[in-house]
Amino acid sequence: MTNTLEGIAASKGIAFAKAFVLEQPEMTIEKQEINDVDAEITRFKDAVNSSKEELQIIKDKTLNDMGEDKAEIFSAHLLVLEDPEIIEGVSSKIKDDNVNAEHAMKELSDMYITMFEGMDNEYMKERASDIRDVSQRILLHLLGVENTSLAAIQEETVVIAEDLTPSDTAQLDLTYVLGFATDIGGRTSHSAIMARSMEIPAVVGTKEATKTVSTGDTVIIDGLEGHVLINPDETVVNTYKEKQAEYNRQKEEWAKLVSEKSITTDEHQVELAANIGTPNDLDGVLSNGAQGIGLYRTEFLYMGRNELPSEEEQFEAYKTVLEKMENKPVVIRTLDVGGDKELPYLNLPQELNPFLGFRAIRLCLEEKDMFRTQLRALLRASAFGNLKIMFPMVATLEEFREAKAMVEDVKETLIKEGQAVADKVETGIMVEIPSTAAIADLFAKEVDFFSIGTNDLIQYTLAADRMSEKVAHLYQPYHPAILRLVKNVIDAAHNEGKWAGMCGEMAGEETAVPLLLGLGLDEFSMSATSVLPARSQVRSLSKKETEALAEEAIQLPTSKEVAELVERKGFIVS
Ligand code: PEP
Ligand code: MG
Repeated sequence: MTNTLEGIAASKGIAFAKAFVLEQPEMTIEKQEINDVDAEITRFKDAVNSSKEELQIIKDKTLNDMGEDKAEIFSAHLLVLEDPEIIEGVSSKIKDDNVNAEHAMKELSDMYITMFEGMDNEYMKERASDIRDVSQRILLHLLGVENTSLAAIQEETVVIAEDLTPSDTAQLDLTYVLGFATDIGGRTSHSAIMARSMEIPAVVGTKEATKTVSTGDTVIIDGLEGHVLINPDETVVNTYKEKQAEYNRQKEEWAKLVSEKSITTDEHQVELAANIGTPNDLDGVLSNGAQGIGLYRTEFLYMGRNELPSEEEQFEAYKTVLEKMENKPVVIRTLDVGGDKELPYLNLPQELNPFLGFRAIRLCLEEKDMFRTQLRALLRASAFGNLKIMFPMVATLEEFREAKAMVEDVKETLIKEGQAVADKVETGIMVEIPSTAAIADLFAKEVDFFSIGTNDLIQYTLAADRMSEKVAHLYQPYHPAILRLVKNVIDAAHNEGKWAGMCGEMAGEETAVPLLLGLGLDEFSMSATSVLPARSQVRSLSKKETEALAEEAIQLPTSKEVAELVERKGFIVS
């Protein structure tokens, strides 16, 4: 019988092949007292140097095969190898505690890993995996253990691993490695991000793939639904072969739409934009034909470091994005930290309800110097493209007015300094708090645009924490209250001649696209890989028919009935 494991669908597609289970190298690290401290430090530094050489080779290969943005992970690893807190830290430990290099390295890296993993934030947790990756490399050199080489795979394979570090994924030869599954990880883990950019099917977080699968088993990775099927029988194989062929056919069709318009059968055009976290995401944005950036989450510039980013550093990042997008609209969101995204160096107070606390625009309006620096960088960058500034978590008109006044003030100062600033920079808000959605008509008179942040709007409207599995059933995008709030926001914008977008995950969902089109949404911003499927769907729909659908949906009493209606009426194309 086919054994099936459930995991998280991390990268779309279906792969079939014999499994290669990546064994963790045996590493027994014992604490030993040493006699010759200097020789031990030299041995440690040699291991660091060998690791550097190795990483440089991997970085060059990645640069060649996958481009600059992916190679940057290895620049980050090389920086860890130069970080005095770690490298000097280990040397000092060897000296002060009179211990062997392996033990000192392990203790120090474990301490940093625990620190980063303890942060209540996905992105920071991923920094832990960088340190784990680098310290493992040094330890292997110290112990003289050979690293299992994924680069040696020479036949069609799916890789099964506890986790795949960035250096593991960089070694995958995509001629042979057709997909992978891991025990740990979520949709934002390095392995998942890499799989999406390499466009190979992947399932992460299966918990027990390495225990259940043996090298040589036949495995199907279903990256569409998040299943891993082990030694499938013939019927299952045939079903999946059909599913794979269908998906591949669909992908070929989508690829043809890269330069096409996002237009309905009755000639209504919308903008399909992408969400990004760093300028490194731009290649995917362009190759997937996004018509703009609907959300640039600038908080990543502020995270994973010990101090605020300078004006210059921010200016460079914003300028890069604006220039690469060549005058296409780029909505940059001002700092949205607090809640689940902490900045340890700001020493913010611990709160009982951080999602309802001192965060985002609330924090920026208090920390005015920090906010002014970001606004200066943004406005200076505005001269290089089509910038729109967006404020997060706005709950009251006073907040918007104060933030807007700061923009005006900073602009005036820059002009006096003789700096170039674009004539017109739109300022808008995220609508992610129900109070704002309820008085959208009043906001619409003052803002230039709205972007509906459903990730938060849903959690605040239904009072269901977006991180809690226990109340996940209440986190309902199609709840009539959400649809009505979305309609209220779009109508309010249009009544004042403004535009309304959406940058929450909902914007790219197949069930949502026809409803949002029918409600009149102008801009849909989503992860880059969702743009082409969404374009294909938009091009198959009639605006008029989606209007009728939305009208009916908004009268339905439950989320379930709304989703069923969309399906029953044939609005889901794939
Ligand atoms: C949202 O809340 O919908 C949103 C896009 O912002 P974030 O997911 O960054 O909170
Ligand atoms: Mg949000």
